[in-house]
Amino acid sequence: MTLGEDVTLDALPLREDLRGRSPYGAPQLDVAVRLNTNENPYPPPVELVEDVQAAVRAAAESLHRYPDRDATELRRDLADYLTVATRVLLDERNLWAANGSNEILQQILQAFGGPGRSALGFEPSYSMHPIIAAGTRTDWVPTPRRDDFSLDTEAAAAIVARRQPDVVFVTSPNNPTGGSIPFGELGAVLEAAPGIVVVDEAYAEFSSQPSAVSLLESFPEKLIVSRTMSKAFAFAGGRLGYLAAAPAIVDALQLVRLPYHLSSLTQAAARAALRHADATLASVAKLAAERDRVAESLLGLGFTPVPSDANFILFGRFADAQASWQSYVDKGVLIRDVGIPGHLRVTVGTPEENDAFLEVSKEIPR
Ligand code: PMP
Repeated sequence: MTLGEDVTLDALPLREDLRGRSPYGAPQLDVAVRLNTNENPYPPPVELVEDVQAAVRAAAESLHRYPDRDATELRRDLADYLTVATRVLLDERNLWAANGSNEILQQILQAFGGPGRSALGFEPSYSMHPIIAAGTRTDWVPTPRRDDFSLDTEAAAAIVARRQPDVVFVTSPNNPTGGSIPFGELGAVLEAAPGIVVVDEAYAEFSSQPSAVSLLESFPEKLIVSRTMSKAFAFAGGRLGYLAAAPAIVDALQLVRLPYHLSSLTQAAARAALRHADATLASVAKLAAERDRVAESLLGLGFTPVPSDANFILFGRFADAQASWQSYVDKGVLIRDVGIPGHLRVTVGTPEENDAFLEVSKEIPR
């Protein structure tokens, strides 16, 4: 018996509003084909691994000192990357970085949400948005998408104007449904919002739409564009998320961030990985082509894939999605039950992994 095992969660003096909640939990199972957390399936190239190794080795010589609290050099490198990617001139004062974009989102709600404040999101969307809202005691205002999971931006702007949330989350491309919001429609939501609008662009590199970064000039007091190195950058294990915004917003987040939140090892590794951005991001076109092939094949098998602009596909229909998910696992393929009735989500993998998934799909009870 583990020490303290007889104490139950119910017996703890937990905050009332956290009682009965479930933690975020994509199952981490050891199966042959893992297509469940939207990672890049290609491991980093050997030159990147060697560069990370050398950078971490050099950083290790100063491990007795705290890291650069403001991660200035890393933010400068991220600004350079994003300037090239979006053709919007950014410098390090426009960038902020943290341990994954989840930490970025948490800092945003710590600074701009909190007790007595609200955050609105268009569901189904990324399940961590309401979980981080709960953790920061921000009231969550779930707002439905259309039946086909697209966002009616006119209706969205109207509800934002009516509900006056302190923070609005717009995920584009949207996880878990895959579609992007047409760039030209984002402005309406920004115009209507009284507070902060977070455009969560975790999958931006896969998208056919331009980044919301180009709207920063028009909405500097409202817009935060959140990004991550976990997806296209193939750096999920490195934990590096970032945002682009006006410098005052970065100043606001510094009021809530923990000092030295980004270790010197993380900063060194992320900077090394960024130096190989071209090589890593070369996989994006391959993955987009595979995505389209998998969607087409699913259609051919009689499934209904939702059009995707990301590196995953939501597809149906299943009479019992949970049972079908289990059936995939039993056949060695781990995908994701995101809780949308009749649907499952598959991450685009290597061609071999995708073939294995498609082969198994033929035998899955629907
Ligand atoms: N936003 C969205 C829409 C996501 O899908 C994810 C990861 N699943 C994240 C943010 C967070 O990713 P990370 O913390 O690894 O940057």
